Amino acid sequence: MAGRVRAGARRGARVAAIADPRPQGRSSEALFARARAVSPGGVHSPVRAFRGVGGVPRFMTGGAGARLQDVDGRRYLDFCMAFGPLILGHAPAAVRAAAEAALARGWSLGTVEPYSLELAEFITGQVPWVQSIRFVNSGTEAVMSALRVARAATGRAKILKFEGCYHGHADSMLLRAGSGLAEAPLPDSAGLPPEVLQETLVAPLDDETALEALFAREGQRIAAVIIEPLPANYGLLPQRPQFLHRLASLARSHGALLIFDEVITGFRVGLQGFAGLTGIHPDLVTYGKVIGGGFPVGAYGGRRDLMEQVAPAGPVYQAGTLSANPLAMCAGLATLRQLADGRLYDRLDMLGARLERALADVPNLAVQRVGSIFWLVTSRATRPATPIRTPRGFPPDAAASFAPLFHGLLGRGIYLAPSAFEVGFLSAAHTAADIERLARSVRALAARDSVPVETP
Ligand SMILES: *Cc1c(COP(=O)(O)O)cnc(C)c1O
Repeated sequence: MAGRVRAGARRGARVAAIADPRPQGRSSEALFARARAVSPGGVHSPVRAFRGVGGVPRFMTGGAGARLQDVDGRRYLDFCMAFGPLILGHAPAAVRAAAEAALARGWSLGTVEPYSLELAEFITGQVPWVQSIRFVNSGTEAVMSALRVARAATGRAKILKFEGCYHGHADSMLLRAGSGLAEAPLPDSAGLPPEVLQETLVAPLDDETALEALFAREGQRIAAVIIEPLPANYGLLPQRPQFLHRLASLARSHGALLIFDEVITGFRVGLQGFAGLTGIHPDLVTYGKVIGGGFPVGAYGGRRDLMEQVAPAGPVYQAGTLSANPLAMCAGLATLRQLADGRLYDRLDMLGARLERALADVPNLAVQRVGSIFWLVTSRATRPATPIRTPRGFPPDAAASFAPLFHGLLGRGIYLAPSAFEVGFLSAAHTAADIERLARSVRALAARDSVPVETP
């Protein structure tokens, strides 16, 4: 996904470059040298550079189903799936047909058109608390715009976010908590204006007491609370339902709006996103990834009275030359239509459960999973204690122990996201045999790499 702060770098856990012994990496090496000469770090989104795992990133030329292909013609079983949008796999026939038809009609109109209307009606039809929706071009834009609406609607300035949650690269969201609650938040990026540091509050996940203290102190100044209800950008950190319910009730009682960032979870964990699974109805929701079927799309929506604040209906300005691009709208709609009967979610959950079972007794590795989103947590010292609900629960050597697993899998033709802190995704294109292959390879590598454990 674009523009994210590298989690490994954030934790100071940069891993030494690992030599890639296989000749198949040669073409990628040459291309990466050229790319570094013309683009920062040779990439257009940081995590793609393999800094978290070392080595040279593979240049991929295409993808089909659950497979990626690199410039040397080598194929990989893909569990990164473009960081989440490809719930149907690479280049599924239905989405391809819809995109090709849209292409033939002309791909940018700059007018009102029926395609975004259909997608808007589909989403508002599925998600009752999204009464009105506006399409943008990325999840980052969706979050920026939702925050602007919240500030306009409440007349307040402060935004509360959570440590370990990623909301795109808008200035105000590039902050994480200091080591104590009383401390000011720390910037995750250079170039942020100091005012931003003052208007963003950062709370720990999984901690009602901290939340209550924060609301007692700042509650009247908070315009909105934004959270990934299922944090999935710093490992997968499932929250206790009680925590999310307490957050919702604190926001309500202090007049702050509740924003669920469902850019990953929207239409990924179910037709009503993670909100649908919790029964909590947020005031505003942000979407991206799956709703564009792999094309550049984001969206924000929610309560009608809030969305009516947006121009030209209301005073909150937000616009986009390429917003609701017909190609992206048609691809998104074709994707969501494949999901509409809900059956794929059951199948993906079964595949996920299979993966979890197959890896249940691997030493020094734990799996955290919700539906088709999974996170492999590794550690050399010991099997990681789960559930992990906050970044504080990570094994200290999570990054260092992930790199050999990543490269071992890559060598066996299996592609994971190139960071210990990224999650994996299953898609409609994955089969039980693919899951077994991943599990077999992980087991073999874990047996090779692990410190021997005494079994009673
Ligand atoms: C990916 C992501 C974003 C940012 O979306 P982009 O399209 O990369 O700008 C925001 N929030 C969450 C939860 C995400 O997973």
